Amino acid sequence: MTPASPMKKQTGEWVALMGNPNSGKTALFNLLTGLNQKVSNYPGITVERKMGRAVLNDQCQVQVLDLPGTYSLTPESFDERIVSEEILSWLHGPDRPRVIISVVDASNLERNLYLTSQLLDLNIPVIAALNMMDLVKQNGNPVAPEKLCEELGTAEVLHMSARKNWGVEELKEVIVRVINEPVHGKPDLPFALSGPVRSFLADLTEFFKKEFGYNPRFAWAQALRIITRDSVLDGYLHSQVSGVKLDDKQIKDLQELRDTSISNLKSQGIQPQTLEATLRYRWLDSVLKKAGKLKVEILDRLTPSEKADKILTHPFLGPVIFIGLLTFMFQSIFTWATVPMGWITRGVAVFGEWILDVLPTGTLRDLIVEGIIGGVGAILIFLPQIMILVFFMTLLEDSGYMARVAFMLDRLMTKMGLHGRSVFPMMTGYACAIPGIMATRTIESWKERLVTILVLPLMSCSARLPVYALMIGAFIPHKKVLGLFDAQGLTLVIMYLMGTVTALVLAKIFSYFIHQKGQSSFIMEMPPYRLPLTRSVLRQVILRSKLFVINAGKIIMAISIVLWFLASYPKLEKTNENINPIHHSYAGKIGHAIEPFIKPLGFDWKIGIGLITSFAAREVMVSTLATIYNVEAGGKDVVLLTEALQEDKDPKTGELLYSPLVALSLMVFFVYAAQCMATFAIVRNETNSWKWPFFMIFYMTALAYLASLCVYQGGQLLGFS
Ligand code: GDP
Ligand code: MG
Repeated sequence: MTPASPMKKQTGEWVALMGNPNSGKTALFNLLTGLNQKVSNYPGITVERKMGRAVLNDQCQVQVLDLPGTYSLTPESFDERIVSEEILSWLHGPDRPRVIISVVDASNLERNLYLTSQLLDLNIPVIAALNMMDLVKQNGNPVAPEKLCEELGTAEVLHMSARKNWGVEELKEVIVRVINEPVHGKPDLPFALSGPVRSFLADLTEFFKKEFGYNPRFAWAQALRIITRDSVLDGYLHSQVSGVKLDDKQIKDLQELRDTSISNLKSQGIQPQTLEATLRYRWLDSVLKKAGKLKVEILDRLTPSEKADKILTHPFLGPVIFIGLLTFMFQSIFTWATVPMGWITRGVAVFGEWILDVLPTGTLRDLIVEGIIGGVGAILIFLPQIMILVFFMTLLEDSGYMARVAFMLDRLMTKMGLHGRSVFPMMTGYACAIPGIMATRTIESWKERLVTILVLPLMSCSARLPVYALMIGAFIPHKKVLGLFDAQGLTLVIMYLMGTVTALVLAKIFSYFIHQKGQSSFIMEMPPYRLPLTRSVLRQVILRSKLFVINAGKIIMAISIVLWFLASYPKLEKTNENINPIHHSYAGKIGHAIEPFIKPLGFDWKIGIGLITSFAAREVMVSTLATIYNVEAGGKDVVLLTEALQEDKDPKTGELLYSPLVALSLMVFFVYAAQCMATFAIVRNETNSWKWPFFMIFYMTALAYLASLCVYQGGQLLGFS
């Protein structure tokens, strides 16, 4: 057993926000901390750990930790695993929260209080914040907080609404009070264990007390929990977050004690898997009865959510509405973003010209203007579109609609060898494959999870958006098709659809070849529809944009500089009007070398260089072209990339180099091509083998080449140029 995990710096006084998914933790976190938030990652994994500072009153400030949503401390999903390991790190180390704020969705009291009842075992004061009271007051009678507090054994129970900002000041006062005068839960489990259960769990409980120093209540609770799922044992054996390490003897003892308990219970006809849930729910039932809540908001008539679901998850209308929404979303990305994109273009140009004025002529000036401003500027332009995309995705997620989509598409997904839970990771893939691949951890069956991971990078991520946007903006006319759709928006929708449909088809094919027993069933939370909080949505947009600019920016900056060097050197001795210096540069040579291979796709050497550099990250394509054209122009001006592409001519024949057909071929290439090192790194991590990332690179590259070939050659046969 080791003390706290390495990341847990001494944070001083801190409190933890815990609750079911969608109970309003993040909304409350934002109310408590305002802008004083810091997001870091858990060590080794890309799950965010959000800490913020809350000013409770003149004298008292605390750090607040927003934990991922969880239904219980039994790790079933990946998020739940993080939470249960975080808790182990508290119990095995010196650093633990002074207070736990258990955020409870008051409109679903019984299920939410399940977690609260587990938190009470930790011997840390618990405040139950019954959130969403605005909904309960419309729907039925709230429970009396004092009575509930007494029955549960919490330090306090209070009503609040993060949406209406009710009860937040009271909560702050209560936190201060409980920090100063801690109120702990009852020292024993609040429910009785029957004689046989008690005796079969006694040795495990002793082990926890003796080896890990757990308090008696938590020792019993953990004994009860470890027999329910292998994942609980796994939390001790392979912990990532908690830093808990057992020695060989402890591992052996724990496994043996657990096996014995399980077989003893089974021999008496007791089901270990359901034991904890049965006992807790029975107890919660009685608690709620005593607290005056006989029935938990089960109304006879349909709630507004259920009415909405009749339409939104209708077998026929549902998918139509979904596709309609996606189309609207992508159309808006184009129309709304035009104006801010114009500002950024002009801003970058003005900045570039200003630098040209103030810096003396020379290599440094060339590097800054041609390499850095040209490259990074070309990426910044796409920020508005990415912000709009994230905005819509967050809206769909927070409103509860995304859960419906998963439910609605479960049948289809299962037919395609996927799972209803694959929908969310795949939709996340529209933003970025990396969080999408991380999100597949909620899929329990390995086979479905692997298939989801393998096809996920075909979902058009936001890094492809700059490439699509550039090509569409330059070559697809801004006119109406079929009197309804804008040709530009429609092309974009087609690119997204192509990736998505191919992903589904390949999933089906892959699932024939990957063998694994056991299908997971579809159990998914269907939260009621809720109006998303503007604050939360905007914060998410800002966070994602920042991450995009910083993460992508770093790679792009580095690649822009390397490229500028490759494109600018070796310098020609004499300048000759007729010879373009970039042809003789290193970059030109590389590009020319691969030109024969990509000529059949309609690509020339400039795109060739882009294809190579964009293996690091797709959006680098845009900055690469920007850098090449800027170097070509010799740093006289900051070149407008769209115009440069439209006007670029073949030096020999004088014909225009690029056409709508080339643009289409290139976009199709980007739909399929494997061009993201970070994705492969993540896949290597998640599948724990090199086989799958290499398989992925191979199949995606082959697909990209073939598809582009078909588009370009087919297009020419049909008479397009
Ligand atoms: P988390 O998953 O626990 O972090 O929950 P969020 O803070 O993201 O909230 C989930 C959804 O519930 C969002 O759409 C919020 O806008 C909404 N929400 C949060 N608190 C309240 C509340 O007190 N009342 C109502 N009506 N909605 C709320
Ligand atoms: Mg949250």
